[in-house]
Amino acid sequence: MAKTEYECRKCGKIVSVEQYKNSHFCKDCETLLNLKPQPRYWLFQFNPSIYKWFDRIKETQEPEQWLVSQHFRLIREGDLVAVWGSGQKAGVYALGQIITIQGKKPLNPNQEKYYLSKSDVGKFQEKHSAYVKYFRICLDKPLLQEECNRDNILLDMQVFMNPQGTNFRLTIEQWDRIRDLTDKN
Ligand SMILES: [Zn+2]
Repeated sequence: MAKTEYECRKCGKIVSVEQYKNSHFCKDCETLLNLKPQPRYWLFQFNPSIYKWFDRIKETQEPEQWLVSQHFRLIREGDLVAVWGSGQKAGVYALGQIITIQGKKPLNPNQEKYYLSKSDVGKFQEKHSAYVKYFRICLDKPLLQEECNRDNILLDMQVFMNPQGTNFRLTIEQWDRIRDLTDKN
């Protein structure tokens, strides 16, 4: 589990609960410290018959712009994301972290060519989006749906209950399990 910490929003210093009890101000810049927000965990889904995610990731592993259609108010910078591809070989293909949240911005031109339909590109102008930076890509050994279905923790993932959508919440237990299972591969 993530531990409770405080942070200085001015200089970025991180302070433990013990240090915070001694002083509620940053030692370096004397700013009042805030409780550091805990990261949340998400599953972002792409459909390979709409977006050629696999082609893109083979060409570049630069941060990727994702539509935030659901949970916009909850998704924050620093949150962690498992990337789920739907279709015949459904599963987790990458893990990453949200580095930027932005308002209604056009899709960045580098990604446009991977969309098969212009109407999907246009959605970026109507909805918020987020950039995800990947720290693990498991194209050769993804965590496939059949393995998730056999797992007591992953069996209950939202994406199985109601597979429509882009952004699904994961519990911390689900995230930890996904991280462990993609690590062993
Ligand atoms: Zn400071």
